[in-house]
Amino acid sequence: TASPAEGAQPTASSAAWLERGRAVIPGGVNSPVRAFGAVGGEPRFVVEAEGAVLRDVDGNEYLDLVGSWGPMILGHTHPEVLEAVTAAASRGFSFGTPNPTEVELAEEIVRRIDPVESVRLVNSGTEATMSALRLARGFTGRELVVKFAGNYHGHVDALLASAGSGLATFALPDSAGVPAATAAQTLVLPFNDVPALEAAFAEHGAGVAAVIVEASPGNMGIVPPTPEFEQAMRRLTREHGALLISDEVMTGFRASRTGWLGLSQMGDAPDLFTFGKVVGGGFPVAAFGGRAEVMAQLAPAGPVYQAGTLSGNPVAATAGLTTLRRCTDEVYATLDHAREVITGAVTEAFTAAGIPHRIGRAGTMFSVFLTDAEVTDYASAQQQDTALHARFFHAMLRRGVHLPPSAFEAWFVSAAHTGDVLDRIVEAIHASAREIT
Ligand code: PLP
Repeated sequence: TASPAEGAQPTASSAAWLERGRAVIPGGVNSPVRAFGAVGGEPRFVVEAEGAVLRDVDGNEYLDLVGSWGPMILGHTHPEVLEAVTAAASRGFSFGTPNPTEVELAEEIVRRIDPVESVRLVNSGTEATMSALRLARGFTGRELVVKFAGNYHGHVDALLASAGSGLATFALPDSAGVPAATAAQTLVLPFNDVPALEAAFAEHGAGVAAVIVEASPGNMGIVPPTPEFEQAMRRLTREHGALLISDEVMTGFRASRTGWLGLSQMGDAPDLFTFGKVVGGGFPVAAFGGRAEVMAQLAPAGPVYQAGTLSGNPVAATAGLTTLRRCTDEVYATLDHAREVITGAVTEAFTAAGIPHRIGRAGTMFSVFLTDAEVTDYASAQQQDTALHARFFHAMLRRGVHLPPSAFEAWFVSAAHTGDVLDRIVEAIHASAREIT
């Protein structure tokens, strides 16, 4: 599987598909980041993927460091998952009744994540966070939600909100179409800032239904929480009768076997968790869950409504279940080795080339910041040289390595990132670092 020589990739077929796509799909993409807006150039249309390799419509191959933005932890088209999914599909696509596989997937999640006693399956991370917020509001009878700048929880109206001016003020819409009244139910605070959190609770504590936080943020690059910040979130939510929602859509079953929870120094666990990505193994599955007492508020028994035509879909649940069962300690050791090799190469190559950089890390997860400032929150993450990231991205792409097309994304490795794959990525990092300086 030789990659085409640097700069020699034919892209005519991708360009033609993009033109066709743009005629019928806004921007030609079904999720904006796929359009390469942050790095320029045009995306490649992929037709096939196996292990660590993506193949595009022009026949180019790329070593993949995006992994469908997280789900493909075993590598693409893992044979065991493929076999299980094929068998499940042959028995029917969707029944609209309860099915055994969704129970088995829920059992697997509950077994692995100790504080989760009960869980409901949904179809996307966005649905999981949206539903968790409604549940927290229903459970507490309150309306305010606290989130943190640079944390992404999907495109939920209440969570597409930016900080207003000053500390502990109500948020403003972060997208056209989000009602100001909805954004005003959200307080956006700086991440890792204990005094700001204390001030917000001092002023608004009695009205706060929930604090939602990316367990260890990955959507501003990887920026782990300080233990003090984690403990303050737990303490203040307890003191004020609010719920703490840990969004593990990205970190769940990836940062470690038990996600960020296994690495957290919070002490007492959060009340609710959201999962996605790995939990569906590449199919549309996500979940939210937590203490049985809170989850009991959901319909049919409780007053908080939540539903889904395809939720717990037997084919998708099979993909998630087979993937989770296959995520052994050995898989996490492989991911961690890949992390070490790749971040080691970045450090060596960027240091030699005089490129300022920092590595963000949460267990097996990592990202690269093109700055020499310490990154602890969104403001510091934004110090990085995004133009340099764009040049690095294209230098890597020409060498057959597909990086996230944003400087604020995690690099995702898989169980297929071993041996020769790692050697070729390391080589591309060194050559690309030389090229862009
Ligand atoms: N929460 C986090 C932490 C995420 O990273 C994402 C997606 O990247 C979401 C929620 C939303 O998930 P989805 O894209 O499946 O709606």
